[in-house]
Amino acid sequence: MSTVAAISTPNAVGGISVIRISGENAFQVADKVFRAYNGIKACEMQGYTCAYGEISEKEQKLDDVVLTVFRSPKSYTGEDVVEISCHGGLFITRQILRLILDAGAELAQPGEFTKRAFLNGKMSLTQAEAVMDVISANGKNELKYAVALKDGAMFKRISTIRKKIVKSLGDLAAWADYPEEDIPYVDPVNLESELEEIKKELLELSRTYDYGKIIKDGINTVIVGRPNVGKSTLMNCLSGYERSIVTNIAGTTRDVVEEYVKIGELAIRLSDTAGIRETEDMIEQRGVEIAFGKINEADLVLAVFDSSEEISEDDKKIIAALDGKNAVAILNKSDKSRVADSDYLEKHFKYMIEISAKNSSGIDGLEECLEKMFINEEIQANNGIIANERQKLCLESALSEISNALEILKNGESLDAVTVVIDEALANLLKLTGESVTESVVNEVFSRFCVGK
Ligand code: GDP
Repeated sequence: MSTVAAISTPNAVGGISVIRISGENAFQVADKVFRAYNGIKACEMQGYTCAYGEISEKEQKLDDVVLTVFRSPKSYTGEDVVEISCHGGLFITRQILRLILDAGAELAQPGEFTKRAFLNGKMSLTQAEAVMDVISANGKNELKYAVALKDGAMFKRISTIRKKIVKSLGDLAAWADYPEEDIPYVDPVNLESELEEIKKELLELSRTYDYGKIIKDGINTVIVGRPNVGKSTLMNCLSGYERSIVTNIAGTTRDVVEEYVKIGELAIRLSDTAGIRETEDMIEQRGVEIAFGKINEADLVLAVFDSSEEISEDDKKIIAALDGKNAVAILNKSDKSRVADSDYLEKHFKYMIEISAKNSSGIDGLEECLEKMFINEEIQANNGIIANERQKLCLESALSEISNALEILKNGESLDAVTVVIDEALANLLKLTGESVTESVVNEVFSRFCVGK
């Protein structure tokens, strides 16, 4: 593979910048631009050692740098790698990169170092994808899951399931290929229970996707309530600034406004919606439709009620629309004297909190609620979670093939037909980990990376 180079630190001014060179000529390229003060050449250095020296262009010194050598296969990419740490100015870093390119390296594509690590067998595709998630992690929880994936949690879990599939396939193949030998007869009842076990594990794994999405993208949340209960005030209070227009004229929040808000360890993606009520007003009517649509898509509904007023017919319609949804009743305006019947709300909602959105009080109750509702202790980071749509599609295909195999088995069809379908399931799991994946999928995965990673 060619020798490539790129700036691996952000495209910004900092204390230091790191330029990475990877490929079979990495040391020769480095030796063309770098001169160590102790006279050692990069190609003579041992792996994991550094040299202090200078980069110069036509006898003109550009910078003092530290050069680190990683020898194949003990490097990030698995190839010979040199990392040059220079002063972190944009101009100086780019100048050094240009010299390295002039010395024979090619500019690395986005994600190319990680792609090479994958192609050289240093990591599975799920681990490579997790590198990106580690970089973009926004909080402790998200980082914990990404790091576990990067360390191969998903690969291990899939490997365990795969071994079971391979065992079943092995039994089937031996039985089909050597019928005259003394191979034990494949008992459909045994095979069925093996497949049921595999299906159960795949199902458990597929359930981690929604949880992973919540950790990564935030909880898709809508705020609903009839006009004037304080939805916009709550949204502003949560997001910390004036986002939606707050007025005391009923029905002024017409569009759905979105906001990403961190609450404790979790994040919510908030939609402020038009107040749900029956109305003749055409524009308002559309807002109400959007609001109902949003409720159906939401992971969480914050249903706001005005504690200083009776629970109205409109409130009751909202409560009815939330039947079976993950909802928290928010009894707002706790700074005013209580008129609303909180017992009624408690009967209809598993979770209820009292707040004063205007005074930003009671919001910690929401944090507690979210933790109870969404932090799932059963989904352990170390066991891996499905981290993206690509992985989810592979897993779902594997799951549907295993279900097909069970169906075929139950219908008493030939074991050959079962073998074909189980084979497909296995192929999908290999696609998931990247052990058998097309070049275009690999390119697609790495195109989402940044340059230098
Ligand atoms: P929305 O129509 O549901 O979005 O309601 P708004 O957020 O526009 O609030 C309607 C009115 O209620 C405004 O005058 C707010 O200042 C007031 N309000 C909102 N929250 C509180 C609260 O916690 N206490 C009091 N006293 N008034 C509030």
